[in-house]
Amino acid sequence: MLAMQLKALHQKLVCVELPDREPGPGEIRVKVAACGVCRTDLHVVDGELPNPLIPIIPGHEIIGRIDALGAGLSGMRIGERVGVPWLGHTCGVCRYCRNGEENLCDHPLFTGYTRDGGFATSVIVDARYAFPLGEAGTDASLAPLLCAGLIGWRSLRIARSESTLGLYGFGAAAHIVAQVAAWQDRKVYAFTRPGDLAAQSFALGLGAAWAGGSDEMPPEPLDAAIIFAPDGGLVPLALRAVRKGGRVVCAGIHMSDIPSFPYALLWEERQLLSVANLTRADGVEFLALAQKIGIVTKTTSYP
Ligand SMILES: [Zn+2]
Ligand SMILES: [Zn+2]
Repeated sequence: MLAMQLKALHQKLVCVELPDREPGPGEIRVKVAACGVCRTDLHVVDGELPNPLIPIIPGHEIIGRIDALGAGLSGMRIGERVGVPWLGHTCGVCRYCRNGEENLCDHPLFTGYTRDGGFATSVIVDARYAFPLGEAGTDASLAPLLCAGLIGWRSLRIARSESTLGLYGFGAAAHIVAQVAAWQDRKVYAFTRPGDLAAQSFALGLGAAWAGGSDEMPPEPLDAAIIFAPDGGLVPLALRAVRKGGRVVCAGIHMSDIPSFPYALLWEERQLLSVANLTRADGVEFLALAQKIGIVTKTTSYP
């Protein structure tokens, strides 16, 4: 299903030849080598998120090399490979920025949503929000780390599972999180659309201890569950699968309405949370970890 959606998005996209404007003070120009497609790009293109920049160039899993430096930058060089994530700018002065929660900034800019993104030959970036990547790994293999990986990592931390973790929706983010969780010695239970045996065997191949349909109960209660699929109907199902005191984390930026459910599913201190965006600290932490673990991403390249 996601593959079909990606194909549809790919058909809608036009690769943009940007005028090679020079970067302003504090900015860099990045020549794009690869840019992943995230579920959020589909939400942007389908008009499901409020107040996008229009027209907008989507794409926020950008890998490329710096080809121009704005004034006042040191510590970055022409030719250096960088990754550009969803978080494109924060104000630095609101209560959230001052409190180390820049993911919740009151006046942010997001790459490919409220500032132009990476489905283009090059992109102008606020240098403070680009991550140096080094030379290990191919451009395409690194791209999914920039959002699926980062948001997955933040979700995993917030889920606080001790030993058992459920993942609802086994796509880009889950296939990365499953590798991290397995490396942390957690047991991963993968939930897919009922009957999606291909996704279930993909999950098992990545180290999941069990895979089944989202309408099934796992063999043991979960410490936590992360919902990656944008389907509000999964919330009561995930609450039903977590133990007393367990957490259900909604990791997407958009979700269909959550159906009403009996209070008993939330009772006993189960918690329901969402994860929004990322901080630069998440990025630094996760990209180093990804290299240490040797995360392998599965990608399909389009011209
Ligand atoms: Zn994304
Ligand atoms: Zn702020």
